[in-house]
Amino acid sequence: MGVGVFDLYNMLTMSIKEAEMPDTGEINSAVATPATKARRFEPSEMPDLEYTPGLAKEMAPLYEKVKHVVPSIEWPFFAPKIKAINELKKTRNAVILAHNYQTPEIFHCVGDIVGDSLQLAKEAARVDADVIVQCGVHFMAETSKLLNPDKTILIPDVKAGCSLAESITGADIRLLRQQYPGVPVVTYVNTSAEVKAESDICCTSSNALKVIESFGVDRVMCLPDEFLAQNIAKQTKVKVITWKGHCEVHERFTPEELRAYRRDDPNIVIIAHPECPPDVVAEADFSGSTSGMINWVKTNQPKRVVMVTECSMSDNVAVENPNVEFVRPCNLCPHMKRITLDNILESLLYMKEEVTVDPLIAGRARLAVERMINLGN
Ligand code: SF4
Repeated sequence: MGVGVFDLYNMLTMSIKEAEMPDTGEINSAVATPATKARRFEPSEMPDLEYTPGLAKEMAPLYEKVKHVVPSIEWPFFAPKIKAINELKKTRNAVILAHNYQTPEIFHCVGDIVGDSLQLAKEAARVDADVIVQCGVHFMAETSKLLNPDKTILIPDVKAGCSLAESITGADIRLLRQQYPGVPVVTYVNTSAEVKAESDICCTSSNALKVIESFGVDRVMCLPDEFLAQNIAKQTKVKVITWKGHCEVHERFTPEELRAYRRDDPNIVIIAHPECPPDVVAEADFSGSTSGMINWVKTNQPKRVVMVTECSMSDNVAVENPNVEFVRPCNLCPHMKRITLDNILESLLYMKEEVTVDPLIAGRARLAVERMINLGN
């Protein structure tokens, strides 16, 4: 049998340890020396994942919290992995960032910081952790790296992409700058670090209007989400130049679908994400970012609501809002759903897949993100 990647990693880390790390201090010491840090990062053995009566009892309070959104038949498969992940986080001095579109067993049971992509990266910069496990998609892990350059960023599945982020490249932006000389470039945070590096400033769905108007000019490029840009253009006198990028989840909603909900229940409240097409947003009672939608439900406590966005969000918000009935249209993000308890566990066990950003790109990309943060929401 040949030597596998894991064996090679083991041999390599062992030889580094023997050659350079004579320290025998405790792994969980408060001050992380290079030696203790290196030891924290050694691959671990797969723990026992049996669902025993003792484990069932120990995990019962957690299940009580999520029982309305996690079927009881699935819990025996989830509970041992949740326990193992939460224990490994301590060994690695790791935090898990879980996006609003992650499934409830991830969002509520292993996530330490939850929210939208920018919230996650900003919050992570404030925690004292060596490792961040990004439960979201690749551009989010890159943004976390930009704002946390000294931390190790892991993504459980490196193939977790995004149709919006993949719709545009740095070369496209350089061409657009030639086509529209002097026109500022605003890029949505749902882009690669390479694209952010070519931008003047980033924006989120909650601050896009403020960012666009911050230049005080009459034309701005807002890339790559065509629908977000069109929805914002309706609220400003600034001419917004768009790009044909779409979120494959939100572009599937139609105004007819929303009208059907209203025909079925005239009192229903509909809230939509601004990545939806403008004719869908026009049918909604409120439109806002994922955080905006969550806050709207918390504050307004509608009797029945449809959240026109990725399906896991309704499940996650339902846990905190037991008096609200959620009608759940289900458009799944296949990229977000690449993240599972199994690959989160493997990510922490074997310290993979690490996400890095070329330092030449990182400096300029960070500037675009920081300009937005400095502008405030
Ligand atoms: S929901 Fe849309 S914008 Fe978000 S990661 Fe999936 S494809 Fe990208």
